[in-house]
Amino acid sequence: MARDRSPKCKQCRREGMKLFLKGERCLTEKCAIERRSYPPGEHGRGRIKQSEYLLQLREKQKARRYYGLLEKQFRTYYSKATKGSGITGENLLRMLETRLDNVVYRLGFAASRAQSRQLVRHGHFHVNGRRVNIPSYQVKPDDVITVSAGSAAQQVIRDATDLTASVAPWLQADHDGLTGKILKWPERSEIDTPVQESLIVELYSK
Ligand code: SF4
Repeated sequence: MARDRSPKCKQCRREGMKLFLKGERCLTEKCAIERRSYPPGEHGRGRIKQSEYLLQLREKQKARRYYGLLEKQFRTYYSKATKGSGITGENLLRMLETRLDNVVYRLGFAASRAQSRQLVRHGHFHVNGRRVNIPSYQVKPDDVITVSAGSAAQQVIRDATDLTASVAPWLQADHDGLTGKILKWPERSEIDTPVQESLIVELYSK
């Protein structure tokens, strides 16, 4: 499956904030944002002319990179979000949050979304007792996520739980038993993704 292979720390520097794309390293002083908090490239430290379009574009790129998606995938989510009832931007974030790879990360079973995606793809997780190896699988309230019995990645998953102090309020995690549950659909106030989704909607509705 296609994925964004551009350097992760450069992505954070471009967006001017930590997107937590590299797991444990993001929590250390080795983080590139801690050391070089200006955009990458020859003109990174120069003045950038701000415009409405640039603000909207950066917000969209930030969200796309945060969830590790390609443009086409992100656009498809937006298109689905416009068809749902309610506020388009919130629909978009809710769909992104309830992807299986994101939920596994939010439950603390992976150190980053990239690791989560790989663990899911390699079949280390079950949803309601059935193995699911599709990172974009949409979970829903009452779904139960478990680590596959005899999974060779159990230690990696346990190590990841050590990095997680708390889980989102719409999720319930049992780090000893390596199980998690979706309690409800996430509200916007329960999603800590650092984006202004209204700017993304403005960009795509042009
Ligand atoms: Fe981003 Fe993590 Fe790299 Fe820091 S270490 S710049 S948070 S990917």
